Amino acid sequence: MVSFIPESTVNGDRFMHTIREKISQDEGGLNVIASDGELYGHHQKFRDIFLDYLLNSGENYQDINWTYPGRWLQENSVDARAMLVSPSSWSCFHGVDRWKKECGCTLGANWKEPLYRSFSEIAGWLDQEYVRFISGYLTDPWQFRNKYIKVFNGQQALSDLLTEEGASNFSINDLEKINMLMKAQVKRQRMFISCGWFHQEFHRIEPQNNIAYAAMAVWLTEKVTGEKITTELVDTLAEVRDKKSGLRADTVFTQTLLRAENEA
Ligand SMILES: [Zn+2]
Repeated sequence: MVSFIPESTVNGDRFMHTIREKISQDEGGLNVIASDGELYGHHQKFRDIFLDYLLNSGENYQDINWTYPGRWLQENSVDARAMLVSPSSWSCFHGVDRWKKECGCTLGANWKEPLYRSFSEIAGWLDQEYVRFISGYLTDPWQFRNKYIKVFNGQQALSDLLTEEGASNFSINDLEKINMLMKAQVKRQRMFISCGWFHQEFHRIEPQNNIAYAAMAVWLTEKVTGEKITTELVDTLAEVRDKKSGLRADTVFTQTLLRAENEA
């Protein structure tokens, strides 16, 4: 409602009246309203004033304790956990389709479907090689991958995380290889970055970036494992092309691989 129905955020008092009606039917506690930050003054004119009115107008909404998830978590203990429904997305009215095929907002974007199909297969290969390699050191590759965010954020040393996850007996050379493999996994996730799938045109910089991430993920994984991705998998990218310019995804992919090899 906040993001997709502009009328709902025209008047702060009316908005709060609607919200209060909904909240009074609930059990109380924390109520979360999630919206895109760009909405306020960028996507919708004057909504920065709307937001300022709600949060700073003083008397009107004194009984509301405004907070945000990070702060709430610091002040309250967690007693239940929820799992995200997969796949789910923050998107247009067409839900997860926006990020993998042509939808009503991106008519003519028929490059998305073959690119998504091809990327899913390439990601499958990357994951298979990741699991095969890292399983030589520890027992839960996906828990290790998830915890790697701490290393990525500079909060933990890779060697400490490896030890924590049960790995022992790893040399400096092993550590370097695992470091490269985790970089490959980061790029493997970036293949699916939303800006690459948001727009209509394939020749834009954003989809090219996603293809470059895919190529770099493959290149790093090949370097570490010594395995080669099959040409059939890369060939599936040839189906992805720009109608106007004729630009093909396999060309972008191969050029990135060549550049990586030359710069190594
Ligand atoms: Zn859409």
